[in-house]
Amino acid sequence: MPAVDAGNGMGGMGRLAWMNVFRFCKALRVLGHVMVLAVLALVGLSFYAVAVETLGRGIAHGAPHIMVLDLVLLVVFSTLVFMLVWSYFAAVLTEPGSVPEDWHPFADDETATRELQRWNTGGDTLYDRADPQRPRYCRKCHNWKPERAHHCSVSGRCILKMDHYCIWVVNCVGLLNYKFFLLFIAYTWAACLLAACILMPGLVEYFRGEKKSGSTLVFLSFVIDAAFVVSLLGFLGMHLKLLSVNCTSIEMYEKQRIHPWPYNKGWRSNFDEVFGPSWWQWLLPFHTEAERQRMMDTVLAAPLIERVGAVEDV
Ligand SMILES: [Zn+2]
Repeated sequence: MPAVDAGNGMGGMGRLAWMNVFRFCKALRVLGHVMVLAVLALVGLSFYAVAVETLGRGIAHGAPHIMVLDLVLLVVFSTLVFMLVWSYFAAVLTEPGSVPEDWHPFADDETATRELQRWNTGGDTLYDRADPQRPRYCRKCHNWKPERAHHCSVSGRCILKMDHYCIWVVNCVGLLNYKFFLLFIAYTWAACLLAACILMPGLVEYFRGEKKSGSTLVFLSFVIDAAFVVSLLGFLGMHLKLLSVNCTSIEMYEKQRIHPWPYNKGWRSNFDEVFGPSWWQWLLPFHTEAERQRMMDTVLAAPLIERVGAVEDV
């Protein structure tokens, strides 16, 4: 699943601002809406090739045992497609998590104002950039941002636990929709794998000359499904690896130089942090209100309160 990382912008370019490539990220929003139609078209093509052209014919004209097998396959495939579409729109429509206005990581507003004055004179050099838990300020949003938040150049705001901006879901993938994005990828991979397996026997028969007529749409669908099976496997594997160590795509590069990685609580706790503790919710693309609140509280907690003393010593 190709994705566009539109993370930190290139602030401070002055006269060269017009050359800032991240300005063009806004154009991705327009492209994104076309991508929603493209995803729906691909899903429709696959469903038509599998359910109507292949399984539908087996159910209507096949021997009894073929009919039963095709019926079971149709139910399984339809369920995967339904979950894929549900997860997709959950990822598209869910607000990924913004930084509340006037949020700051300090004990009180006075400290926040004082730190901002220091930040305005000394900039980010005041703090150790190798420390992911350092106080961080966004010049574009004019607001402090919690650790793990990043400014998204496409949506023009800071996103909590930002992973990347994905043109396929026309949305930034962050704290509150990362689970839905992962489920979308996983259901898409499973549906494409099943579709390729269902379509392949008919195509083999056609190319062997055992079947006189073949459908172009079935062939096209098989090629696309097989391509997604291969390409999504690597992408899914990468995200499962990141999930197991509690790291985002943006943080992947930070993690290579920061040891030990401060957010890694063990694979099971890392999994629960994204998918929730209730096993029956793991496969469903939604969070309960209590779960959403817990996730927001976790990232907006202010661990830096204890660090102000250390910061003032710099
Ligand atoms: Zn920002």
